[in-house]
Amino acid sequence: MRTPILVANWKMHKGVREATAFAEDLKLRLQAPDGVEVVIAPPFTALGALQRALQGSGIELAGQNLYPEAEGAFTGEISPAFLRDVGCRYVILGHSERRHGFGESSEFVARKVRAACDHELRPIVCVGETLEEHEAGRTAEVIEAQIRGSLAQVPPEASETLVLAYEPVWAIGTGRTASPGDAQKVHAMIRELLRERFGAAADRIRIQYGGSVKPENGYALMAQPDIDGALVGGASLDPASFFAIIRFERASGEAST
Ligand code: PEP
Repeated sequence: MRTPILVANWKMHKGVREATAFAEDLKLRLQAPDGVEVVIAPPFTALGALQRALQGSGIELAGQNLYPEAEGAFTGEISPAFLRDVGCRYVILGHSERRHGFGESSEFVARKVRAACDHELRPIVCVGETLEEHEAGRTAEVIEAQIRGSLAQVPPEASETLVLAYEPVWAIGTGRTASPGDAQKVHAMIRELLRERFGAAADRIRIQYGGSVKPENGYALMAQPDIDGALVGGASLDPASFFAIIRFERASGEAST
């Protein structure tokens, strides 16, 4: 009932030429992304080239960030309108590298989420605890605060366009992943928080897992009932490994039907 969503977060990797070559390769492997939604979040500078390269492929585009104003004197920032203009359907917001590396609070993330909704961009809202918080047994408390704060301004009619991504900070780029059982527990908790906030729509909101997802561990994670796909960093930089994760997600969908 929830179409799994796989997002390639390239972070600050790949210029125009490399991004285009990736798209051509992935299109050949994927043919049509039936049963899964496939999204690429390249650096801003490659969005235009990928919009052209991915036309008609069914593969969607995402921005990696936005500034919560339509336009104005905000040197170096990108507006939600510009992301729409260059073909984005999604935008990643509240990634841990933004929360922890650039000091973004949940209140600021909430403004961005609102701006995305106002421009018909679908926000992929990331939450996750640090290693210190994890070891102190504070995961539930941290996730709850991030969810409540980051989603504070979502208009009810936009709730089903949301995608959540649970990304334990200690798992991002480290090679460590949460066990499928532990990740499922956090995802189920997130869904309960979404139910409190949005009612029955919570069952239609997708919650991805992120943090060192690879072809070898993706299947077991995405086979969990509340894990609806993956946000993939490092393993999405190579078309063969990203495609392998997509293929395993399709297989886990078939196994559960
Ligand atoms: C990410 O960037 O969101 C991420 C999960 O990275 P990695 O897959 O490299 O851990």
